[in-house]
Amino acid sequence: MEERNNCLSVILPAYNEEAMVPQAAETIGGLLQGAGIPYELVFVNDGSWDGTWAAVTAAAQGDARIRGVSFSRNFGKEAAILAGLEQSRGGCCAVIDCDLQHPPEKLVEMYRLWEQGYEIVEGVKEDRGEESAAHSFAAGVFYRIISKAVKMDMSKASDFKLLDRKVVSILLSMQERNTFFRALSAWVGFRTAQVPFSVRARTEGETKWSLWALVKYALSSITAFSAAPMQLVTILGVLVLVCSVVLSIQSLWKKFSGHALEGFTTVILLILFIGSIIMISLGIIGYYLGRIYDEIKGRPRYIVAQTIGEEEQKI
Ligand code: UDP
Ligand code: MG
Repeated sequence: MEERNNCLSVILPAYNEEAMVPQAAETIGGLLQGAGIPYELVFVNDGSWDGTWAAVTAAAQGDARIRGVSFSRNFGKEAAILAGLEQSRGGCCAVIDCDLQHPPEKLVEMYRLWEQGYEIVEGVKEDRGEESAAHSFAAGVFYRIISKAVKMDMSKASDFKLLDRKVVSILLSMQERNTFFRALSAWVGFRTAQVPFSVRARTEGETKWSLWALVKYALSSITAFSAAPMQLVTILGVLVLVCSVVLSIQSLWKKFSGHALEGFTTVILLILFIGSIIMISLGIIGYYLGRIYDEIKGRPRYIVAQTIGEEEQKI
């Protein structure tokens, strides 16, 4: 029988995390070594403008189990995760934030579950760390929509996951450009186990998500999974049709009973109302059109500028 590749590839997307790279390498490396788990660390430098790549290079030079990939510019966390998966060689891959907000000790627990035969081990958020009320409300709305789209409860989902090689290969073979890793890895199915964890506070650096970035990320994730917003257009159309039937009857009634001159306010309101509905609808359709345009161009999801580690030494 072929021996199972029992190496764990840990993928760490890093964007302006120069302070966290050495800490993450040390903490995670020490932990996995202590637990007797064969591992490799794959840092993906997502176009940082601080010393992140220098930190990755330094770490990789001192340790053959550390490798790095560097993008030509910032392509986003989704792209970074995919690049890490592409570079990984282990029998299973774990994705963890480089800022150590995901508790690394859980990696050992996840690995043990994988050894027992689970193909996906999901980190499930027990609490969401510190957030403003507006943020948790928006996150609540977003997760409700995305849960409907994926037909699974995503409210506690995170990118902190361990995937079997089989699952990784499937994810990598998917051709879509606009991915949402956290939902996609649930969508593929397979034997899944869950490991609850609580989000830690950041020790160094700061969050990379501005409000606008989050809104864009939410929109792109929803449209990556669901065409429901387009059905909204149909629903709006039906609503407007019902209103127009009622108003037509009223107008005709007035005409035949000889009070037809009134009602300019209604006309103005109707024009504004219908105009906005049409524009919103066109906007929704346009958004999807834009997505189709992006997919059809078939551009690479990311561009690697440099790699460091074992692979580079071999060439
Ligand atoms: N990240 C990335 N590319 C980006 C934004 C973030 O690779 O464009 C990485 C970041 O370095 C971190 C992880 O994704 O390791 C999570 O980002 P962050 O901590 O800013 O998000 P939060 O924890 O606040 O949700
Ligand atoms: Mg974080």
